[in-house]
Amino acid sequence: MNDCLFCKIIAGDIPSGRVYEDERIYAFKDINPQAPVHVLIVPKTHLSGLDGLEEAEDRLLASLLRAAHTIAAREGVETSGYRLISNCGPDACQSVKHLHFHLLGGKQLSEEMD
Ligand code: 5GP
Ligand code: ZN
Repeated sequence: MNDCLFCKIIAGDIPSGRVYEDERIYAFKDINPQAPVHVLIVPKTHLSGLDGLEEAEDRLLASLLRAAHTIAAREGVETSGYRLISNCGPDACQSVKHLHFHLLGGKQLSEEMD
């Protein structure tokens, strides 16, 4: 059985604040938000992270980026601006090994990238 936290969230075994869903993608509010808008965007199929993309269809990767724009509009930050981040590996502090993008917005974000 898959022991991945985000797979459990996608399956509905762990509750989450869903903000978007389509046949390939699920998006939900981060439990520990770093900005007024902090959404996690994940593929429904398990991929380890940016280091696991050889297993992914190009169509899925394009859909993730398009979903980010749709979610930004729904969350009201399309015009004010937003940031999309995916942490990969120990130096980036990736804590969940299921590919995810953080969509952050709703405040002036730091110019620093770390
Ligand atoms: P990472 O550090 O891997 O880039 O991001 C993992 C994110 O998942 C963190 O921002 C963390 O707050 C979030 N997170 C961890 N556990 C849960 C959970 O059970 N529910 C939700 N909604 N977010 C979670
Ligand atoms: Zn998973």
